[in-house]
Amino acid sequence: HGHVDHATPAAVQEAVATGRTHAVEPDYRGLEAYRAEGGYALLEACLAGEHSPEHVIGLLSDSGLRGLGGAGFPAGRKWAIVREEAGPRYLTVNADEGEPGTFKDRHYLERDPHRFLEGLLIAAWAVGCERAWIYLRDEYPAIRTLLTRELALVAGAGLTAHCPIELRRGAGAYICGEESAMLESLEGKRGYPRHKPPYIASVGLFGRPTLNHNVETLFWVRDIVERGPAWFSGQGRHGSKGFRSFSVSGRVREPGVKLAPAGITVRELIDEFCGGMAEGHTLKGYLPGGASGGILPASMADHPLDFGLLEKHGALIGSAAVIVLSQADDIRAATLNLMRFFEDESCGQCTPCRNGTEKAVQLLSSGRWDRPLLEELSRVMADASICGLGQAAPNPILTALRFFPDEVASDK
Ligand code: SF4
Repeated sequence: HGHVDHATPAAVQEAVATGRTHAVEPDYRGLEAYRAEGGYALLEACLAGEHSPEHVIGLLSDSGLRGLGGAGFPAGRKWAIVREEAGPRYLTVNADEGEPGTFKDRHYLERDPHRFLEGLLIAAWAVGCERAWIYLRDEYPAIRTLLTRELALVAGAGLTAHCPIELRRGAGAYICGEESAMLESLEGKRGYPRHKPPYIASVGLFGRPTLNHNVETLFWVRDIVERGPAWFSGQGRHGSKGFRSFSVSGRVREPGVKLAPAGITVRELIDEFCGGMAEGHTLKGYLPGGASGGILPASMADHPLDFGLLEKHGALIGSAAVIVLSQADDIRAATLNLMRFFEDESCGQCTPCRNGTEKAVQLLSSGRWDRPLLEELSRVMADASICGLGQAAPNPILTALRFFPDEVASDK
């Protein structure tokens, strides 16, 4: 996966020797170092009344920053919407990074956690949220250790007086990355997604208006305000604005988190940021958005990757997890693998998803694909499932049928 470069060789050796390979603490920028380079000055200026919330929200809107967890909702607009609601308001952070192929939040939390925390505290100030919760993927124990320590330091420095922050552990359920399921989990209940509306901006955690963000969205707040919105919006390619942190894995020479212009094509991403394809591999296709975003063929390698741009092809960029496939990869096997994942992770609350994913696995496992039946099943799941998991689960099937018809129709 290419995300081991944060650990020093010595730390890795020690971890292996002590058997604690999963909890190697990364060499991150702590509070003192962060403050030494001007960190928390912006938050302090906000708290001292040197900026108005309207001004900061306006800068965010002008920058074009969108939610980077998958849905891509404009961040400034979200702040303004929640701010309009009657208090008390709460803030939640989705750090449950569970979309297969996605590891960008981990990347930022392991290097510069205070940039994220300052963004969180500025958001809480601008929107008037009086308490915050971070819902952290439990498979990130090293991050839990460092965040626990740094949160205590930030609180000790008096920077969380306007909004105390609580760190909570997820329990390995993919569905708890869905925002309303995450709120249920934070409330101590089973992580079932809620019916919408009402949206969590008006009825969220403990029934209160809630601003929910992905880690990375908050990570960019300080830089956007300090450098100005044009710094962010001025980047981008092929008509898109801003940049995206692509988690690139699969058949490339140098996988990892790549900060690249929004709207870049997968061919440009592979050539300019990943050192090209891995030795002996040629591009056959790619997943533009983890498990949920569908599978696209090499013939679409010059298509811009950004929110909305892939939708007419039945694909999604989501959290920008790009998985690169080559001639060594079998599309039917990949699709079946993804559907098994959805079958495992379906929360079971609604029939189209609970039974649909199970049925899809059966159909995909039985030799030749039955196109009419798979299309009908996909339609029911997409139309009738309660949440995004069941709605997006057919994407790999539909895109495989559409873009790799010969391969999936074969009798092998
Ligand atoms: Fe649960 Fe799937 Fe229904 Fe979502 S679509 S509520 S994951 S059963």
